[in-house]
Amino acid sequence: MRPTRRTSRGSGMDHTRTHITRHETDVLVLGAGLAGLRAAWAALAENPGARVTVISAGSGPSGSSFANLHDRLGMQTCPTDEDAADLVAEALAVGRPGHVEPVLAQALATDARERFEDMKDLGLPFIARQNGSPELFSACFSPASRRAVVFEDLGRVFTAFKTRGEELGGHFLSGLTVRGLVVRDGRALGALAEDARGRASLFMAKAVIMALGGPAPLFAHNQAGPGNPGFSLGLLGRAGARLVNQGYLQYMWASLPDRAFWNLAAKARQGLVVRSPDGGLVPLPDDLAELAAERKTHCPFGHGLPDAELDRFLLRHLDAEGAVMVRAAAEDFTRVAPMAHAGNGGALIDEHGQTSVAGLYACGECASGMHGANRIGGAMVLATQVFGTRAGRHAAGTLKKNPESSDISFSELMNDSLAPRSQGGRGTEPDRDREHLHALAWSLQMNMAMQKSPTLEAARAELSRRREQTAGWRARLALETGMELLTHIASHN
Ligand SMILES: Cc1cc2nc3c(=O)[nH]c(=O)nc-3n(C[C@H](O)[C@H](O)[C@H](O)COP(=O)(O)OP(=O)(O)OC[C@H]3O[C@@H](n4cnc5c(N)ncnc54)[C@H](O)[C@@H]3O)c2cc1C
Repeated sequence: MRPTRRTSRGSGMDHTRTHITRHETDVLVLGAGLAGLRAAWAALAENPGARVTVISAGSGPSGSSFANLHDRLGMQTCPTDEDAADLVAEALAVGRPGHVEPVLAQALATDARERFEDMKDLGLPFIARQNGSPELFSACFSPASRRAVVFEDLGRVFTAFKTRGEELGGHFLSGLTVRGLVVRDGRALGALAEDARGRASLFMAKAVIMALGGPAPLFAHNQAGPGNPGFSLGLLGRAGARLVNQGYLQYMWASLPDRAFWNLAAKARQGLVVRSPDGGLVPLPDDLAELAAERKTHCPFGHGLPDAELDRFLLRHLDAEGAVMVRAAAEDFTRVAPMAHAGNGGALIDEHGQTSVAGLYACGECASGMHGANRIGGAMVLATQVFGTRAGRHAAGTLKKNPESSDISFSELMNDSLAPRSQGGRGTEPDRDREHLHALAWSLQMNMAMQKSPTLEAARAELSRRREQTAGWRARLALETGMELLTHIASHN
């Protein structure tokens, strides 16, 4: 079933705009990554009569789910009950010092087998053994386990998920960037989105599922897939959703300019020498070299773990472009940088995927509480499937209990969180926004990974000043997201 649609004149939102296209739907899914597409599928399966609309900025395979540079993803599965118990225990242990809810870690483990079966039904291309069954792999922070599967050809995976949603009657719109959630009296009622030509669409819905991915694209050096502007946490923050673990991102070392994975743990075992920006050579101290064995259990920076000192050793020698020249024994110098890879923070959800705002669900990389500061490798993809499914089902299953939203006028909904501000500094708005986004990217790059940087507070103040100066909604949302990350990491280290 298609969403109904009508236009309204003279919104007062933007002097250059005269028409806002208004859509009505039942379940509005924001984002077409693994989380959003899984949520749409679950909503349609749960309530075949429901109108389910998915909107995304990217068109075709986008985001870290379907357009990441590896073209493959690992996912935790729990073939046995013992595996499930281990996953829960490990998720809670590595989640410290972040915020992990045992009930959410348990949900991940409990649903893992069923979600994996769904993906097999979909015909995903898993790496298989000779007998055809999916190969089981170990994972970061869980080196002894054999619970993770790997699927490849992410463009094909996107098509499989989207086709399932289309077959069930879902409606998919791309090229629309969400600029605000519509919240009235503490209840989410829809979202406002804009296309590349600045045309606005208002989507009113009985339930809204946020699946807009994480903040890694905001960093100067990152490995996230394209099509995600990176400000989901800013949107959630404005809507009043409770956020947790915002500052805990995964960082992977990679060589420049190709962003190829550079294995710090393996290199450190051979002995490292750094060439500092002033040309001096600095060998890795012996006490840090001893940490290489612990660092071997995971590729990302380990928040709160002793072996993070190894990463900090490199971070202390970053040049102005956020990179460091480093040489492992018998190799040439390589230029490497910490890449923002994926965030572990987002809206704290309950076991149904509900945020603290009524009618607003979150799943995937913009939701949190099932992971903390660190997460088990493959647990994010599992989270997209488990909480995408739970959110979709719950949202579609409770529709009849929600009030009709059709009586709400657009002008009534225009509040400060949706309307742009007219003030600004010199230059044209796009120029200024580009400058602000550039400054944000480098501020996050140079301050976040180090965690204990004395410049965190100054960086936050600078972003706040820039936020006040910009009228552009994209830059403002990005700056607000950056402030969320810096504020969190400053207050937790
Ligand atoms: C290189 C790389 C390798 C990874 N490997 C693994 C792995 O092996 N295992 C694992 O568990 N995790 C891995 N991750 C992390 C994992 O891939 C992601 O966290 C996960 O896929 C995120 O899924 P998502 O659906 O939440 O978001 P995404 O896949 O990022 O999708 C976000 C969607 O929202 C849309 N969007 C965003 N903002 C807006 C907006 N304002 N308006 C409209 N649309 C918007 C985008 O266009 C996109 O459709 C990896 C990440 C990277 C970068």
